[in-house]
Order: sequence, then C-alpha cells, then structure tokens
Amino acid sequence: MILGVSAMLPSPLTKTNTLNILFASTKEKPEFWFPLLRRALPTDHFHAWPDVNGGDIDVAIVATHPVGTFANLPRLKLIQSLWMGVENIIGDTELPRGVPVARLIDPGMVAAMGETVIAYLLDWHRHFWCYRQFQKDKVWKRRKQYLASDRTIGVLGMGELGGTIAAKLCALDFNVAGWSRRPKKLAGVYCSTDLDEILSRSDAVVCLLPLTPYTKGILNKDRLQKIKKDGCVINVARGGHVVMPDLLAALDSEHLAHAYLDVFETEPLPPEDPLWSHPGITLTPHIAALSEPRTSVGKIAENVERIRRGEAPLSTVDFAAGY
Ligand code: NAP
Repeated sequence: MILGVSAMLPSPLTKTNTLNILFASTKEKPEFWFPLLRRALPTDHFHAWPDVNGGDIDVAIVATHPVGTFANLPRLKLIQSLWMGVENIIGDTELPRGVPVARLIDPGMVAAMGETVIAYLLDWHRHFWCYRQFQKDKVWKRRKQYLASDRTIGVLGMGELGGTIAAKLCALDFNVAGWSRRPKKLAGVYCSTDLDEILSRSDAVVCLLPLTPYTKGILNKDRLQKIKKDGCVINVARGGHVVMPDLLAALDSEHLAHAYLDVFETEPLPPEDPLWSHPGITLTPHIAALSEPRTSVGKIAENVERIRRGEAPLSTVDFAAGY
C-alpha cells in the first residue's frame, strides 16, 4: 500500500481538545502503561480494548493488536506502535487508509538492545558458550584468545538500533561492517549496501533488520556460508529473518560456532522444539529489548500532542519501504 504525503497528515481537531485514546494489545498490559500515560496526557480519556468508546477513538496505541481493532474507528488520526517493529500493524488487512502509523523509538529499548547484543557478542568472542560446556564436563582447557580488533562484526540494519549498536561495538575496538538499504556514513564503520560483501567480511553477524517481504528468510544457506568459519549469528530482529534448517546445518557442520536467538517464527517457542536443547544455540524469550514505559511515554505523548495541534506525527512508517 503506498500513501501520498498529504494523505498521511492528520486533519486538525475541531470539536474538542480532549482525545479518546484506545490501548489495544495482546502482549502489553494497559495497567502497566496507563498510570504514566495519564500523567503525561492528563486531559485525555483512555480506553482499553475491547472498549472502543462507540467507535469514537482518535488515537490507537497498539502492539500485536487483537483482530478487528481498526474495523470501526472512523475518527482515527494516529496509530502509535508500542514496539519498534511494526510488521503486525502493516500486515493488518483492516488497516485504515490514510491514518499514519508511528513506530516507537524508545531510548530505554535502544539501550537494552545494546546491552543484549554486547552480552551475546562477548559470550561468543570470549568463548564463554564453550567454557560453560567445559565446566559441565570438568574439562580444564583454554581456547585461542582473540583481540576485539581481530574481529569484524557485520550489523544488518543500520537504523535506530543497528546504528547505535555499531557505534558501541566500535567503542569496544571491534571492526564493524554495516548493511543498510540506502548508502550510509557512520564514523568508524565500514558501510555498504552490498550484503554479500558485508557477510564475507564478518566473523559475527547481528541481525537488526525490520521484517519485510525483502528481508524475510534473508539469512539462508548461501548467506550463512559467507560468514567466516567459527563465527556466530545473533538474531534479535524477527524469527522470519533466519531460515532455521539452514542455520542448524551451518551449526551442525561446525561452519558457525554458535547462534544467539531471541526471536522465533512461532512464539512462545513450543516445548517440543529441538532448538531448546541444541548445543550450538543460546536462546532467550524475545527479551532483547522490551518497551519501557518510563523512557517511552514522553515519545508517545509528543506524537499525541502533535495530532492535537494538527501536525504530522514523528517516526512514521514508510509504507512503500515496508518499515
Ligand atoms: P529502523 O530504524 O527502521 O532501521 C532498519 C534498518 O534496516 C535501516 O538501516 C534500513 O536501511 C535497513 N533495511 C531495511 N530494509 C532493508 C533492505 N531491504 N535492505 C537493506 N537494509 C534494509 O529499525 P530499528 O528501530 O533499528 O529496529 C529494527 C528491528 O529490530 C525492528 O523492526 C524489530 O523487528 C526489531 N526489534 C526487536 C526487539 C527484540 O526485543 N528482539 C526489540 C526492538 C526491535 P535504511 O537505513 O536505508 O532505511
């Protein structure tokens, strides 16, 4: 769906300055968010799905929203995501045309993602994944030490998260190679729009891409083989980016040393899934970076105030690009 710029601009409010704000999520809890939202937007009325106030809703705050959320909201002027990834919203066939969708750029989430990626990366770089097994086996053995400057880390996606993390990895003295759709310049980072080139340079790869038709399944057999031997893959974006049988083959053949997976095509990961017990995989339950009300409510309130003034909201989705 491609929307023109004029179609994305909300019309100014005429009748009243009070807005009706709907909170609709199957994952985030309104009782967790409402106290801070009410403090930031004291004149507005908050409703938790399925209370849609008879359809009189100006702003919908969503994260994996229930089916039918947008079915009958004729006054809707803004869909504000509580997450940075918006593929669930964009993929909703009932998404009202002309209503802007804003991503949440949460500084707390960006900081958390940096901590997670660095923790995973150091686990691989310092061989801790291996020493954990040695301890279980009571084996006293040392593995070869590398300097951070011996390693090149490929960062796929150089946006809000990837760009920040690339800078943090440079500060730790790693070489960093970043892949983005459009050409980019970032101090100390080798930037390219050529994926194969970035992968071939990389000892470890961090996936921080949005899930779009183009990026789905992007880490497949051929691409994983381009990463240097004994490398690792860190997927903290979406499960759909990795072709799982291809990743397992790369681990089982010992081309890759380890994989760190925070996201999966099916979440929660079913108990019978073999990924739980694969020795080459460290997994976490989609916690790499959680939305943090204390650092994000200000951003949400800013967008609501912009709607109140009839201005375009910030951090809106580019529907043509798909993210
Ligand atoms: P963002 O700011 O939109 O950045 C996306 C980056 O990916 C941009 O650099 C973009 O290139 C690049 N990109 C997109 N499509 C591409 C393509 N076809 N080819 C090459 N590069 C492409 O996104 P973000 O805020 O950093 O978030 C990234 C993703 O992280 C989210 O979409 C979400 O799925 C995931 N996430 C996961 C968690 C978790 O807890 N696991 C938490 C938060 C977010 P340009 O710079 O050229 O636009």
